[in-house]
Amino acid sequence: MEFPTSVLQSAPAREAIRIVDRLRDNGFLAVLAGGCVRDALLGRTPKDFDVATEATPDSVQRVFGKRHTIAFGASFGVIGVIPPRSKDGSRESLPPTEVATFRADGTYSDGRRPDHVTYGTAEADAARRDFTINGLFYDPAEDAILDYVDGIADLQSMHLRTIGEADRRFDEDKLRMLRAVRFVTTLGLSVESATLAAIHQHADSLRVVSGERIGAEMRRVMCQGDAGRGLQLLVDTGLSRHVWPGLDAMNWAKLRSCWQRLPEITFETAMATTLSVLSSEAAEAQASLKSLARRWKLSTVEQRAIIAAIEWAPRVVQCVDEPWSNLQPILVNRDVDVIVAVAQAIAEDGAGISRAQRELQREPATLNPPPLLSGDDLIEMGLTPGQNFRTWLAEIRRLQLDDRLCTREDAVAWVRQQT
Ligand code: ATP
Ligand code: MG
Repeated sequence: MEFPTSVLQSAPAREAIRIVDRLRDNGFLAVLAGGCVRDALLGRTPKDFDVATEATPDSVQRVFGKRHTIAFGASFGVIGVIPPRSKDGSRESLPPTEVATFRADGTYSDGRRPDHVTYGTAEADAARRDFTINGLFYDPAEDAILDYVDGIADLQSMHLRTIGEADRRFDEDKLRMLRAVRFVTTLGLSVESATLAAIHQHADSLRVVSGERIGAEMRRVMCQGDAGRGLQLLVDTGLSRHVWPGLDAMNWAKLRSCWQRLPEITFETAMATTLSVLSSEAAEAQASLKSLARRWKLSTVEQRAIIAAIEWAPRVVQCVDEPWSNLQPILVNRDVDVIVAVAQAIAEDGAGISRAQRELQREPATLNPPPLLSGDDLIEMGLTPGQNFRTWLAEIRRLQLDDRLCTREDAVAWVRQQT
């Protein structure tokens, strides 16, 4: 397998190569490591470029100067190197590049992190990584891939396999099981059989992983075209018991067809679609979301969009003959894009969607006209604030949207009739 040098043209890649070259000039072996090598070899655009080196964190700071580095996880040997100023003096808008010292992990006793790390060779550093496809290095100076773990063979056959004995590797760090599901889903891999068997065997120990870490992995699983496959793997391996209780009741065929209709896959549209397929009642879907949101620590903005879509998407699907006053509040919801996308996913018949999309083309003044009257107007008319106000204002709004009250005077006259 050849490393596609075209991926080295991007700004973050050039910055990583600058760092590798500088370390080399100072006598240290340095390479690109992990996810970026894997993604490049798969023909994907790497998310970021991580550097691994034999230089200790102190040496890295000495080479680049303390002012140009940030000690990230100093205890784990990771230094962030800040990009240089460009010629016009502005900083390139690149994040710092992570430069990690080759290390050999010690023992693991908490099921998540090594008790201590020692610096080691490139080979030891490859061996402590999780999956063979993640254990590759690329040496740009020699244009050579360093493969100590048979990662290339697994990339070629699209297999996910632990480095070393699967049983021990999942025992050390339980989060790796969920990372496996993530890589299967995002990269379309199949899981090698001993690795799969070990996940089955250790699934229950995922319980020691924090809900927040689980949530971070699930955000990535859910944003993929193939998330259904990842979810099914969670259920098949038993991981779902600690990730998403109740997921085993899923109608997978239905989820697949909804997923295919989803026009835009984001975490929010994916979650709302999945929960809507899982529960026939919106209230039940919202309750499931609430409990996942607590465990996964979802933001209020994420929750708001997902809840809006669970609640309103079915109404959009059914809206063909609805009066405008019923549909309008849904279409001016701040999460309307999520709502309509989820409606498209769950709709078996597109007539409601077509109407909603047509109505969304309205000019702002007719999509969301200013109300004819406000509470202040009612007070000015000499009325006493109370429960009636809400009822009247809602009714005036409804009549306005349905073109039965057109002017402020019409509305005032309507209120007078009520009193
Ligand atoms: P992405 O492109 O999604 O960032 P990645 O493979 O770079 O994927 P990271 O979480 O950024 O994933 O980790 C960087 C590298 O560190 C991995 O490729 C892997 O080699 C190693 N690694 C990360 N997490 C673990 C872990 N829990 N156990 C062992 N090695 C790990
Ligand atoms: Mg990464």
